[in-house]
Amino acid sequence: MRKKLLRSYWIGNALTLLIVVVFAAVMLVTDIRTDQGSLMAILNTASAWTTESSSNLQELADKIASSSPPLRVTFIMPNGIILADSGKEDQDPQKLMKQEEVVLALRHGIGEDFSLRDSLLHPSLNAAMLLDGRLILHLSNPIEEIKHLVTVYFPLIVLMFLAMIAVSHWLLDPVTRRVVKQLEQVRDLLEGTTSRDQINPEHFYPELRPAMENILYLIDRLRYDLVQISKTQDMQRDFVDNSSHELKSPLTSITGFAEMLYDEPELGLAQRQEYLGYILEECQRMIAIINDILMLERQDQRKIGEMARVDLNRVANQVAQALSPQAQQKDIAITVQGQCHVFAVEQDMWDLLRNLMGNAVRYGRQGGYVKVLLSEGRLEVRDNGIGIAREHRERIFEKFYRVDAARDRGAGGTGLGLAIAAGITNRYGAAIHVESEPGQGACFIVDFVRKL
Ligand code: ADP
Repeated sequence: MRKKLLRSYWIGNALTLLIVVVFAAVMLVTDIRTDQGSLMAILNTASAWTTESSSNLQELADKIASSSPPLRVTFIMPNGIILADSGKEDQDPQKLMKQEEVVLALRHGIGEDFSLRDSLLHPSLNAAMLLDGRLILHLSNPIEEIKHLVTVYFPLIVLMFLAMIAVSHWLLDPVTRRVVKQLEQVRDLLEGTTSRDQINPEHFYPELRPAMENILYLIDRLRYDLVQISKTQDMQRDFVDNSSHELKSPLTSITGFAEMLYDEPELGLAQRQEYLGYILEECQRMIAIINDILMLERQDQRKIGEMARVDLNRVANQVAQALSPQAQQKDIAITVQGQCHVFAVEQDMWDLLRNLMGNAVRYGRQGGYVKVLLSEGRLEVRDNGIGIAREHRERIFEKFYRVDAARDRGAGGTGLGLAIAAGITNRYGAAIHVESEPGQGACFIVDFVRKL
């Protein structure tokens, strides 16, 4: 990753340098072309002057040269004798005669050439013209641009380029390192070699932060889901254990009484009736447990399509009717007041009310009351029975949790009623809680509006 970034960085720099050099070269070629045009124009003008006044060639050479400094003007005979020269230093006539532009002028009357006469640092544009077949007018114009380019601009460009690389390296290197480090952290996190807690998205670059936050969110979700799955598995295991235990105890009793009846055929009728009564009671308990387990199971299978507007007052009155044998036994008066309509599966509302009102009767006092109070979005089931101590209030909604196992089992409870009620309210996004004081009754409140 780091190597790739560095490679891209250097390729970018090299390309920049290439572009600068190509641009400079194009500019230079354009300049030389322009100079070439000017030189030919001067050559034509100068040749006209020469043919008009051929008296003082040296004066003429100086005059032409001064018209476009640093132009050098030379008059040379075809045999190599220099007649006039505007330049200060002497030049070698033999060498001059061999130059391309002079050779061309002798052959075709006119010639031009770009020459690196002395060295790369002294290039010049040269032109020559044969006048009347006996005199050669030679112009030589040094190209200052190349000299400048080679001596000043090129070193300057290189220097600037190096400075640019140094500065960008100095500025970019820490950034590159940090980006690479941050990406490595992401990789380590995904590979599981870094712990999620070691990572703070705030320390990431803003461009990387959203991706990091998403990854952390997904990791958290995954962890949460795994915890939930493991919790669900634990709960299922507990449920199987508890159900087996709950069913095992009545079965043990039934087996015990059945064995006694079997082993002792001479038992009296009254005793037999008593044992059979116990067996019947335990069987009913088992049926109640199995019914509640099935009710719990049914919770997840309810279909949305079965939902309708349910009148809780009507359902509560039906439940009261169904509970009337138990209520009469304890001389408990069940009343239903107020109105509440909910959009739900009616069977769910029946199960909810059946469990809350059934408990209120079961744990209610002799000659007491059960009041169902309804208002919009709210259901209360109030009794004046034994009540629930604070430490049990949260746990009573767990499956098979009982405040007093022996007492509550004896009262006919399965330990699943409130778990069923909580499951139903949970499914409807409603909240259930209890307000109670030991000895002063309990009030179960279902809030259909408030989300859990
Ligand atoms: P059970 O079938 O044993 O009643 P529940 O899940 O319905 O099981 O209730 C759990 C426990 O909560 C009960 O065993 C009982 O101790 C307590 N409880 C529930 N409702 C009431 C109530 N209205 N008054 C007092 N205690 C209650």
